[in-house]
Amino acid sequence: MEIFFRKELLEYREPEHPECPQRLSAIVNFLEKKGKKQLHSFEQVSETLLLEVHSQRLVNMVKNNNFFDPDTPNIPDIYFYACLSAGGAVAAAQSALDRRDACALIRPPGHHAGKDFLGGFCYFNNMAIAATHCLKTVKKVAILDLDGHHGNGTESIFKDVDRVIFVSIHQHPAYPGTGLVSFSNCYNFPVKPNTAFSDYKIFLVEAIGLIRRFAPDILGISLGFDTHLDDPLLQLRFVDSDYYHMAKMIASGVSCPVFIVLEGGYDIASIGNSFFCFLSGWEKTKNRNG
Ligand SMILES: [Zn+2]
Repeated sequence: MEIFFRKELLEYREPEHPECPQRLSAIVNFLEKKGKKQLHSFEQVSETLLLEVHSQRLVNMVKNNNFFDPDTPNIPDIYFYACLSAGGAVAAAQSALDRRDACALIRPPGHHAGKDFLGGFCYFNNMAIAATHCLKTVKKVAILDLDGHHGNGTESIFKDVDRVIFVSIHQHPAYPGTGLVSFSNCYNFPVKPNTAFSDYKIFLVEAIGLIRRFAPDILGISLGFDTHLDDPLLQLRFVDSDYYHMAKMIASGVSCPVFIVLEGGYDIASIGNSFFCFLSGWEKTKNRNG
């Protein structure tokens, strides 16, 4: 698994906000401690690609710091950081197109941003931008959203796009309140608060089955760690080692190249080990198979 990261993504912060730089530094420091290979750099997304997903209105709002959202802070230079984050997703997607599975360790997250709206700590939809990049080269892209929240932005961008399926497992009730039903090419699995991985994985098996039947050329995973027991924003009950089993299930169930984009996850104490568990499960499965 190739890992993409740039330390500039640690530069911005909003006091008291859960989407803080420590989320990402905790993961990177943990990987370093475990002697995990080098991290790859990347560039900002091009404005041309950005405008294939988002409206000029939204791009201008973010660029000119001309917006207000109670959850999604208006921070100096946030346009630069949002474009850099999206660039990480595109770099991971390109790596997968070159048949090397990859993960973008990025912030701000993206899956709540739609074509013409921001929200939920997200400015631009990193996953949608990366998937749009893939659709220039391949025919079919599947998106699996395993953040604890529903990826309403990604769903709104790709609904009825027949070369894409969107599959999401998420807590309900919770922000943003969407994702209760499946329709068209969008498959939603809402789970109740207090759900542990032992129950969640029944839906994951179903989600993997849907993806296998779609037979995508590439799979993008929106990966969030706010499904963790100690996460301050949600009430799901994953423990660190559940991410190991989650990764094994996906890596053994899906045969196409995969890119992963980091979304949420706000418990600093557990996010490093949880990510490392996911990576270990992934690499263990892939090394055995390949
Ligand atoms: Zn989330």
